[in-house]
Amino acid sequence: MFDTLSDRLTSVLTNLRGKGRLSDADIDATAREIRIALLEADVALPVVRSFIQGVKERAKGAEVSQALNPAQQVIKIVNEELVGILGGETRRLDLAKTPPTVIMLAGLQGSGKTTLAGKLAKYLAGQGHTPLLVACDLQRPNAVNQLQVVGERAEVPVFAPEPGNGVGDPVEVSRRSIEEARRSQHDMVIVDTAGRLGIDEEMMRQAADIRDAVKPDEVLFVLDAMVGQDAVNTAEAFRDGVGFTGVVLTKLDGDARGGAALSVREVTGQPIMFASNGEKLEDFDVFHPDRMASRILG
Ligand code: GDP
Repeated sequence: MFDTLSDRLTSVLTNLRGKGRLSDADIDATAREIRIALLEADVALPVVRSFIQGVKERAKGAEVSQALNPAQQVIKIVNEELVGILGGETRRLDLAKTPPTVIMLAGLQGSGKTTLAGKLAKYLAGQGHTPLLVACDLQRPNAVNQLQVVGERAEVPVFAPEPGNGVGDPVEVSRRSIEEARRSQHDMVIVDTAGRLGIDEEMMRQAADIRDAVKPDEVLFVLDAMVGQDAVNTAEAFRDGVGFTGVVLTKLDGDARGGAALSVREVTGQPIMFASNGEKLEDFDVFHPDRMASRILG
């Protein structure tokens, strides 16, 4: 992902090399090319605008540096602005003062929530935590089973409704899971919720009811980076319908343009916290804005 964007930006910036001094016209021309590269990569328009404005203002007012030539200065500015739209610092999980820390996952069906639940559980277990996975996606026939498979692979227990126990209500399952976590001394609870293919009022209401029942410390919005322009609308709908405290980008191993996903931090104001880049449990990492910016700038 981001290959085209990366190639375009690298070539725009390479064109500056060798120039002794950059005139305002040079900077404007470069900014225009960067703008086109970002728009073609699906970066949301308001994000492109503020990015370009930032680059122009800083490049034109750049103090003369002994250490960097003009081209290097612009590259540094573009890099810093990119890190900025990606959130600046890495944001770590907020832990509850009194365990368990409750992490709720929300997102459209197919966005990669269940897979992510397993990845996150494994990651947290590796850090010495004792997570409990909770199956609250009772919409999709196979979802509970899928989470159990993922839990087995991650070697993390799964709390799921027992067939015939009269527990078909995901809100009730989520509530009981917190009691179970306290009883069995799990210090973290990861709640997988149902998604639909499109934004749907009933799904939002159910997610909001689960949120009210478990009072999560973190609500992570799981976003498939392959979906393109729709990513921004979906993110806004989840922000307004459920609210979230962080974003997880999935399928970063895909070959989509990806710029919409890169806009999500600026558009929603919430940080990208984790990144998923494959189907295996290991294909997962904390999101580092600076590393992502370096990857994009080649
Ligand atoms: P859910 O409906 O939101 O729970 O989504 P799933 O976890 O079932 O994932 C939907 C599909 O996407 C599955 O086939 C996963 O294997 C796949 N998937 C999930 N995360 C990634 C990823 O980071 N990269 C790739 N290539 N596939 C992924």
